[in-house]
Amino acid sequence: MARYTGPVCRLCRREGIKLYLKGDRCYTEKCAIDRRAYAPGQHGQSRKKVSEYGLQLREKQKARRIYGVLEKQFRLYFKEADRQVGITGENLLRILERRLDNVVYRLGFAASRNEARQLVRHNHFTLNGHKANIPSIQVKAGDIIQVKEKSLKSPKFLEIKETVAQKTPPAWLELDSEQLTGKVLELPAREQIDLPIEEHLIVELYSR
Ligand code: SF4
Repeated sequence: MARYTGPVCRLCRREGIKLYLKGDRCYTEKCAIDRRAYAPGQHGQSRKKVSEYGLQLREKQKARRIYGVLEKQFRLYFKEADRQVGITGENLLRILERRLDNVVYRLGFAASRNEARQLVRHNHFTLNGHKANIPSIQVKAGDIIQVKEKSLKSPKFLEIKETVAQKTPPAWLELDSEQLTGKVLELPAREQIDLPIEEHLIVELYSR
């Protein structure tokens, strides 16, 4: 399964905002955005007038990078969002939020979406009692995400158990911090997706 494997702090610097791709490090003074708040590369500090297309492109790249999705997959998500009833941009964000790796991150079982993706790939979770090691699985209302019993005893998850109780998942998810289990209460509404994404720019980009 393809994914971006290059330096992730460059991505934040390119977008000019923190995308929180490195977990705990993002909250320390080591964060590259705090130390070098300009785009990477030779011309990173030069001021350029951004075209309308440029704005739309940046918004799409930002969304892609936050969720760790490559272009091809992102385009497929857009097509699916366009087919669905409702506002295409909101449908797109809802599809991205419903990815299993994102739900694992939102429940507080991982410090970043990258880590969540890795934990899912390494087979630490079940979905409704069944094996679930594909990060892009779309969850539905009523789904139960659970840490496997064997994994619960591992040092990694014992550590997660200590910290997860302090985290508050979004209202569309329910967390049992004792059993390390999460439930999807409903699909997320746009106002429950707290990300600085102007999805209408993405729709405009793909509608060109
Ligand atoms: Fe982005 Fe985190 Fe790197 Fe800061 S530390 S630049 S928020 S990935």
